Amino acid sequence: MVRATKYDYDLVAIGAGSGGVRAARMAAAFGARVAICEQDRVGGTCVLRGCVPKKLLVIGAHFADDFEDAAGYGWTVKETSFDWAALIAAKNREIKRLNGVYMRALRENGVEILEGRAVLADPHTVEIGGRSVTSRHVLIATGGQPATPDIAGIEHVISSNEALDLMQLPERMVIVGGGYIAVEFAGIFSSLGVEVTEILRGDTVLRGFDQDLRTILADEMIKRGVDIRCETVVAGIDKKDSGYSLRLAGGGGIDTDLVMYATGRRPNSAGLGLGEAGVELNEKGAVAVDEFSCSSVASIHAVGDVTDRLNLTPVAVAEGAALAETLFNGKPTKVDRQGVPTAVFSQPPLATVGLTEAQARARHKKIDIYASRFKSMKHTLSGRGETTFMKLVVNAGSDRVLGCHMVGMDSPEIVQGLGVALKCGAKKAQFDATVGIHPTAAEEFVTLREKRPGDGRMNK
Ligand code: FAD
Ligand code: NDP
Repeated sequence: MVRATKYDYDLVAIGAGSGGVRAARMAAAFGARVAICEQDRVGGTCVLRGCVPKKLLVIGAHFADDFEDAAGYGWTVKETSFDWAALIAAKNREIKRLNGVYMRALRENGVEILEGRAVLADPHTVEIGGRSVTSRHVLIATGGQPATPDIAGIEHVISSNEALDLMQLPERMVIVGGGYIAVEFAGIFSSLGVEVTEILRGDTVLRGFDQDLRTILADEMIKRGVDIRCETVVAGIDKKDSGYSLRLAGGGGIDTDLVMYATGRRPNSAGLGLGEAGVELNEKGAVAVDEFSCSSVASIHAVGDVTDRLNLTPVAVAEGAALAETLFNGKPTKVDRQGVPTAVFSQPPLATVGLTEAQARARHKKIDIYASRFKSMKHTLSGRGETTFMKLVVNAGSDRVLGCHMVGMDSPEIVQGLGVALKCGAKKAQFDATVGIHPTAAEEFVTLREKRPGDGRMNK
């Protein structure tokens, strides 16, 4: 490793979220002198306002189903009650604990934590809290923030940030958007008894996911009572004496107690001195980087959501790790973005890895589809009408499994393992040769034998 000579540090990271923390810790472990700047609490979106608090609320909300389902198994569940404030307080205690774990991990690795908002003064100088520090390399890992359209009354809406800390649950709520966050929060709040209307401009939820998954998840959400309004656009929001009134483009309106927007996120790249330092941004304001996360300025690098590549925590972590390997361990490392598994923690959840059916059809001459929709064993006795759906997309020519898709209980846990199989280039014959674990839903992935007839498309 090349030791810095004329600089205070070898690496200064701006942003102590998933990507910045991983890069800083690893760089320090490789012997670099590292500082990390944070304007809020260490942990970033995932720990403070994203994956962790969201998943805790998903788990908390699911107990509503569990109490109902228990009756089919002979349990008498006496009257239950739910205390939102208690859940939020417990969630906040866990975030505080994780924040402490992150701080300790940084300090134990010898990373100095600089508190405050950092800005670049030049390609090797960062200003923070009234002082200037110099570094051979600077990492921009500032993440992103909710983005909302510029419509009348938009100041009345909340984002996922506030939704995770509401003082009390509303009776009715409108969630605008059809992506990850909208669908996940619709699940949380509707399970907790809020009357949820989800408004989206597309034909159904989760554009970009496999079409069967999209249709089936929307079906399941509707069954659970979420009022999904597709191809609907909000023109404006008016505040009423009590609650809000949404004006819809094309006429009509909706009255509600709370409006949440989940219409995407934008990179935190403004006001950082990036332009002045010569760092190029793309048309969405994300830092433009090469495959090694290097920006247009040789000493400035960027990882995670501020680069708007694949905005997931494990990807930001992998990018941070790859950067540390590249800069401080003599191993130039690129992140492989093929076959990144992902899950939506909706109710029920969905998970996916590899190509959607549409992507596979566009890239390969002939593909086979194996799919199954069934009632899971749990719901034979619970009586819940929820179904599970599994699908394999296979290249008919090579027999390679190109995509695995699932909607249903435990799908994120199941699809993680299938991600390994796809990384190994598994063929359908190898799925077939794998013995199932019985009785599970997961075994269906190794017992799917019937190709979907016709052209393989779902009858709907
Ligand atoms: P961040 O984690 O956002 O960290 C950036 C840090 O930089 C922040 O701490 C910020 O305060 C700091 N910062 C910004 N500007 C400055 C400055 N000028 N000076 C000092 N500090 C600064 N991903 C998943 O994989 N699974 C999930 O289940 C999941 N759920 C999510 C749920 C929600 C509601 C949201 C919003 C996101 C979710 N994500 C999930 C996405 C995931 O949280 C992000 O992809 C990930 O946190 C990005 O990490 P990052 O390091 O790029 O940025
Ligand atoms: P997404 O990009 O997933 O979804 C944004 C949604 O908002 C889409 O339905 C989009 O519609 C819609 N939209 C965008 N602009 C407008 C507009 N002007 N008016 C109306 N609707 C609009 O973003 P999210 O905010 O849900 O989440 C941000 C990112 O965070 C995700 O993409 C993901 O990377 C990450 N995340 C990951 C999670 C996980 O791993 N489980 C959970 C939560 C977030 P259209 O499709 O038509 O463009």
